[in-house]
Amino acid sequence: MTISKSTRHLLGISGGKDSAALAIYMRDKIPEMEYFFADTGAELPETLQFVDLMEDYLGKEIVRLNAGRDFDYYLKLNGNFLPTAKFRWCTTNLKLKPFENFVGDDPVISYAAIRADEGYRNGYISTKPNISVRYPFKEDGLSIEDVKNILDESGLGMPKYYEWRSRSGCYFCFYQRKNEWVGLSERHPELFEKARQLELYHKNLGRTHTWTESESLDEILARKDEIKAEADLAKNKPQKPKNLMASLANEEDDDDDGCLICFK
Ligand code: SF4
Repeated sequence: MTISKSTRHLLGISGGKDSAALAIYMRDKIPEMEYFFADTGAELPETLQFVDLMEDYLGKEIVRLNAGRDFDYYLKLNGNFLPTAKFRWCTTNLKLKPFENFVGDDPVISYAAIRADEGYRNGYISTKPNISVRYPFKEDGLSIEDVKNILDESGLGMPKYYEWRSRSGCYFCFYQRKNEWVGLSERHPELFEKARQLELYHKNLGRTHTWTESESLDEILARKDEIKAEADLAKNKPQKPKNLMASLANEEDDDDDGCLICFK
């Protein structure tokens, strides 16, 4: 790859552990690195605090990108249909487009936080021809344990939401596990209520559209003890040997390929 002097080097902070560790790892390797965070306006308070901490640690601005319009605007534009894994207008409008606007037509190398133990993943960043992607963790063979060590040694540690949620992203993200919705109801009841109200809009119109498949947030709340017990059981369940490597690679981390920009 030819790197001209005018090539910009960009690293997106998602609020997740991998991009945080990558920013620390690359800080002294590429001093001209530009950091950014695409803020959907629906981020968890813990994520915003972690991005502030990262900024202090890096000693450099993390440029906050926003779409100029909030989630509610795009919700209306999409017929009030909540985003889903198949119809992910949220990522496109609130994360990807602000990133592409930030890049403009400049030649850019975007550094992606895919680890060596996620060898099958490339993530999705952008199809713009002026954006090339590099994977320093993959290139240098760094895995989940290295990520944890980098964060520990920096003193930053893991983002606080890992106490109850497996990834960053919007408080209402439809990729949340049911146990994480329960966690949201306990840690941020006001945010849970906002997500519930968005769902109720559909119910009041006689639709069955819900954030998670097959269950509404009210139904999740009604059986929260059962959901918590199931999650505890799954956490303590011994792994079958043949699944051990996959389990290690995906520990605390079953991010979706398409959501590199949201979760890594
Ligand atoms: S975090 Fe989830 S809800 Fe938010 S933009 Fe990404 S996929 Fe959409």
